[in-house]
Amino acid sequence: MAMSLYFDNAATTPLSERALKAYTDTALNFPGNPSSSHRLGIEARRKLDDERSAIARMMEIEKNQLFFTSGATESIAAVISSLLFTTPGKIIISAIEHEAVASWLPILKEHGWTTATLKAKGGTVSPHDLEAELTPDTKMVAIMSVNNVTGAIQPVEELVKVVRAYEKDHKRKIFFFSDSVQALGKSGLKLRAWDIDGASFSGHKVNGPRGIGMLYLKNPASFRPLASAGGQEEGKRGGTENLPAISALRAALEDWLSDSESKNKRIQEIKDKISECLTAAGREILSPAVSSPYILSFVSPFPSEVFTRMLSDKGVEASAGSACSNNAKGEGEKILLNMGIRPEKARNAVRISFSNSTTEEEAESLIRILRELINAK
Ligand code: PLP
Repeated sequence: MAMSLYFDNAATTPLSERALKAYTDTALNFPGNPSSSHRLGIEARRKLDDERSAIARMMEIEKNQLFFTSGATESIAAVISSLLFTTPGKIIISAIEHEAVASWLPILKEHGWTTATLKAKGGTVSPHDLEAELTPDTKMVAIMSVNNVTGAIQPVEELVKVVRAYEKDHKRKIFFFSDSVQALGKSGLKLRAWDIDGASFSGHKVNGPRGIGMLYLKNPASFRPLASAGGQEEGKRGGTENLPAISALRAALEDWLSDSESKNKRIQEIKDKISECLTAAGREILSPAVSSPYILSFVSPFPSEVFTRMLSDKGVEASAGSACSNNAKGEGEKILLNMGIRPEKARNAVRISFSNSTTEEEAESLIRILRELINAK
């Protein structure tokens, strides 16, 4: 691989060597289908159970609350599409959701649902705004834990409280879903203590493989998915389980989550140092004060695609907004506009994102290159 300074970890992280080894070990030693009743099937089922228990323990949830999917996009689709089974009501999301969530609104509207999109001025959704949108026909609230463009940490604990208070007063149930892809091991997310009903996660943001994701369901019994197909994953997600990828995810998470508080603190220091360098060079930081240590968004002196190209010429991989903006053009920019950032600033926004193995030396090299490029303007 060519020498590069990789600062696009919010898009994807490299697979760790331990995760790769776990993948090949399981692929070679557990060839059976966990649904088969012969010996190899039973061994694969035991292995799957073992991995699920270990991951659930790390996430401080019960193993029967954890379901494996092909990625966060599928976890989100499972939850939101399940609404199509029910009589139409209202869904409330935030204006800064990933397309994996936001793209469901037109489909739900087509099926008679009412939708509301909460503003996120400064990058954060306000619990008061959520309170004002709750109506007796509200069935779901979907607000992410950490935004993928700016790293803004959403006040999920307070948002759930608002929903629970409304439920109590109106004697109805509202499903609180949180896309938590950028939060896993990176912010202080507490699924159980905050009483979240459902959450999505992705393996490839924590040194695990692509194509493996997780869905947390507080009360799986009450959840009816659109596609249970072959009945795998307790009927919540049909399809043969990707056991090698699940083993790899376990290995990746064991490493990512071990001593994660001190790792997060170290990354925050790296982020602070780079922020200081940018501020000293007259660049505005777009990530709010309460944001993930792993994401730093700032206004570059040039349009995003020009500055990321200049960085790339120096061996630095960074991103304009979000990786997905390369497919759905302007997505990152749209999120920034929805936060109230002026268009001329949103156009120049660049995202630098870290892994918990990003080194101080890599950060120093980045600072040197940023100074050089910004001062040469
Ligand atoms: N949600 C957020 C906030 C993300 O950052 C991403 C990945 O970019 C996704 C959802 C989609 O995740 P996956 O690639 O696992 O489908």
